[in-house]
Amino acid sequence: MISSVMPTYARAPLNFVKGEGSWLIEANGQRFLDFGAGIAVNALGHAHPALVTRLTEQAQKLWHVSNLYNIPQQQDLADKLVELTFADTVFFTNSGTESCELTVKMVRKYWYEKGFSDRVEIIAFEGAFHGRSSAGIAAAGAEKLVKGFGPMLPGFKHLDWVNHDTIEAAIDQKTAAVIVEPIQGEGGIRPLPDKYLKGIRALCDRHDILLILDEVQCGVGRTGRLFAHEWSNIEPDIMMIAKGIGGGFPLGAVLATEDAASGMTAGSHGSTYGGNPLACAVGSEVLDHVADPEFLENVSRKGGLLTQGLMGLVDGYSDLFDSVRGLGLMLGLKCKVPNTEVLRACYDENFIIVPAADNVIRLLPPLNVSDDDIKEALYRLDKAAQACAGKLNEAAL
Ligand SMILES: *Cc1c(COP(=O)(O)O)cnc(C)c1O
Repeated sequence: MISSVMPTYARAPLNFVKGEGSWLIEANGQRFLDFGAGIAVNALGHAHPALVTRLTEQAQKLWHVSNLYNIPQQQDLADKLVELTFADTVFFTNSGTESCELTVKMVRKYWYEKGFSDRVEIIAFEGAFHGRSSAGIAAAGAEKLVKGFGPMLPGFKHLDWVNHDTIEAAIDQKTAAVIVEPIQGEGGIRPLPDKYLKGIRALCDRHDILLILDEVQCGVGRTGRLFAHEWSNIEPDIMMIAKGIGGGFPLGAVLATEDAASGMTAGSHGSTYGGNPLACAVGSEVLDHVADPEFLENVSRKGGLLTQGLMGLVDGYSDLFDSVRGLGLMLGLKCKVPNTEVLRACYDENFIIVPAADNVIRLLPPLNVSDDDIKEALYRLDKAAQACAGKLNEAAL
């Protein structure tokens, strides 16, 4: 018999009832160190006092009103994002995949309004992930996402992992935009080297097409800059965000330049919930913390600490681990044994990590994780590695 919760996830037998900072707690009191953070969502950890206060204060006043009316909390968050980024304008969504939907619509409308209604094709890359909606799966194009789901939304061209020559060769009269994650998350923490991102920006400029960055996972401080593309000194025309910006409250956004958003006039798009007072009050509080330069410097410093420790583990367990990838607190360990084995061994040590494609395990702790918790994480990962190595040796005997 089918479970009452639709069985689209193979769930681990973990039952968390409470969270405190970088820790998750089960009903029986078992404490788990959380280096998954709800997949890069709980940017300030669990139950951060400032977020709890902001949420409950707003909840006492007003949860929801329609976008038919002015929403001061939304205005406030949009103003801050515009102030802090390349963007001139922001549309709020409830998730990453909704940000992808709007992005695709925005790009198409842009060219339509400019008189090029057949410029609809968006170039995307192997290993990408843009969410689970029809546009999201069509954009990523991977068989495991699209198989069985019938005719795909047309208008995407899929290229192998970034190569400027193949991009240039793929651009034609129909090309509308390029979409790319500065660091692939689900794809296995695969960073796009600076020169690649710069090169893609230059290609987009040369051929007059739009550059879309998907910073749903790598954005909002995760890499030690407010947005990952800042490391490469380039700016996109459109950027998708979600995950970290809500700190655990469902919130996403599409940020755009005035030009890229020029087709999005009154009536062209909408959302019932998108940008409601409760979500934006929380998002605004998250942003105030994360956008602080000192906070971001600390993310980089802590990322360095964690990276160093992980490199030590790669050296110490060369039969298990291949290499460390990523930036800031968006880190991956490429495994030589199945990553699911490492994952299980980590669960046995009450340590939460997240698997990714390309046989990688991801470490995505809260951005305000303490140095002590990083040391504890490395200790637990070491113990998990010992257990995996023990099994390897047994198998070899
Ligand atoms: C998680 C993710 C999405 C989808 O976000 P949802 O909120 O799950 O819809 C899109 N793009 C990237 C890069 C992501 O990591």
